Amino acid sequence: MTCPICRTPTEWKNNPWRPFCSERCQLTDLGTWATGGYRIPGTPLTIDSERPIDEDPDPPQTGSITPDN
Ligand SMILES: [Zn+2]
Repeated sequence: MTCPICRTPTEWKNNPWRPFCSERCQLTDLGTWATGGYRIPGTPLTIDSERPIDEDPDPPQTGSITPDN
């Protein structure tokens, strides 16, 4: 299977971060919907509930992802 974030082929078995390849990608995904990218209805939020999700103080940086270069 492939990590939905970075498209890296990753193992499903024994992978605590599935369907992602790593914790980093899992957090990236969390960040995506925490900033209004998308939402999963009925999913309990375990992120900071003190912080109102209102505006995006840190726009996502694309520097870490290098597409075709
Ligand atoms: Zn990944």
